[in-house]
Amino acid sequence: MAKPVNSLSLYKPAKLPKLNFITTMASNKIVFFLVSSLLLLLTVSAVEYTVTNKAIGTPGGVRFNNEIGVAYSRQVLVAATDFIWKIFRQRSTGDRKSVQKVSLFIVTDYDGVAFASNNEIHVSANYIANYGGDLKREITGILYHEMTHIWQWNGNPSAPGGLVEGIADFVRLKSGYIPGHWVGPGGGSRWDEGYDVTARFLDYLEGLRNGFVAQLNRRLKNGYSADYFVQLLGKPVDQLWADYKATFGN
Ligand SMILES: [Zn+2]
Repeated sequence: MAKPVNSLSLYKPAKLPKLNFITTMASNKIVFFLVSSLLLLLTVSAVEYTVTNKAIGTPGGVRFNNEIGVAYSRQVLVAATDFIWKIFRQRSTGDRKSVQKVSLFIVTDYDGVAFASNNEIHVSANYIANYGGDLKREITGILYHEMTHIWQWNGNPSAPGGLVEGIADFVRLKSGYIPGHWVGPGGGSRWDEGYDVTARFLDYLEGLRNGFVAQLNRRLKNGYSADYFVQLLGKPVDQLWADYKATFGN
């Protein structure tokens, strides 16, 4: 008589030297079941990332391959995603936007810096070619910004553009990959000016209420209301902006 097969025997088969045909079949079925379950889990939760240099042979395409590369860019996309989910405090798949695949392209047909649309990120090869400074650091920061656009809610899509850009740059600020030309804390003239100005303001608001940006983003899933600031911080956004400017004396 063979011993009954238990899960331990899958990991330590040497301790069951007299397995007969029947129990071997049973353990194979268990292994098959475990492997299929694992594959199913991976299929459900994994995001696929692709990086394509469409500018090969151009100055920007060559510089991308030399100073950044496909492998590093892909690592940044993965790391930025984890970072963004942490900032947004989205612990489970159900809290997050449903995105199966994110594609990064280095392109020759765009004269700006970069943009995100339809789960694609396009970075200008021309910008890469002409950037004077630490290119790898700059592109890393840009990828944190663009990746935020992939994962953030935008009020369907009624949130002010400056707020959407401010949240993307808030993530970039928290990642540490910000360029030297950014305004300092207290800089700018309007709360929804966008980019670095709004990012610095959001950072101040985050200091007033830990998790503010995550809670604001959660509300933006279902629309936008200026009242979100009152709900979360007890004051209208214009008052918060005035407090912020007064805090930094400008
Ligand atoms: Zn943006």
